Amino acid sequence: MKHPKEEKTFLMIKPDGVKRGLSGEIILRIEKVGLKIIGLKMFKPEEDKVDNHYPKNEEWVRRLGERTKETYRKYGYNMKEEHDTEDVLEMGREVRKWLINFMTSGPVIIMAIKGIHAVEMTRKLVGDTIPSKAELGTIRGDFSIDSPISANRDHRAIYNIVHASETEEEAAHEFQHWFGDSEAVWDYQRSDEMVMFPETKEKK
Ligand code: GDP
Ligand code: MG
Repeated sequence: MKHPKEEKTFLMIKPDGVKRGLSGEIILRIEKVGLKIIGLKMFKPEEDKVDNHYPKNEEWVRRLGERTKETYRKYGYNMKEEHDTEDVLEMGREVRKWLINFMTSGPVIIMAIKGIHAVEMTRKLVGDTIPSKAELGTIRGDFSIDSPISANRDHRAIYNIVHASETEEEAAHEFQHWFGDSEAVWDYQRSDEMVMFPETKEKK
């Protein structure tokens, strides 16, 4: 069994985060908690690359559509009037398109992150998808005010600053997708690892 400190995850600072000058703050929070950044790159992603980043399976797209429908219902708006459909799968496909448009609208920063419970810890730092539900102290809770109802009415994705893998399975796919063939992943020893893992043999 590999050492728990070898767990890896993927994070992306979305175009709103980059444009608002929050990159440094986000990097700081990841490093401060003790997670190790082993890859980092800024670029404007191609549509095709983002399309293959987000899952295409019906279950994922349907969940996105269901959430959107639920938001409309909760706030007393009519999804059928706005989008000419009641179908959650169709709605999910539409939101997925908004997401792709948003993620290709400007430069992003991608990060490969490693550490104990990297996936869970990174999600904890990021906070809930919906900024109003994200706890203070999280990246989304501290720096975003967007809401699904506002985003849906303007036919765009929620601007919530960062993307981070939700599960180890998602992390494996996304890590491979963005850093798979690249030489931009590094291993090195952080000074605090000598305190945390004195018994573990390290690579130089
Ligand atoms: P995440 O893992 O917390 O980013 O959330 P999801 O995987 O559920 O959704 C992916 C992204 O789609 C989110 O980060 C939002 O930018 C966007 N999104 C999610 N739900 C909605 C919604 O109901 N309406 C809109 N407009 N965008 C949404
Ligand atoms: Mg997600």
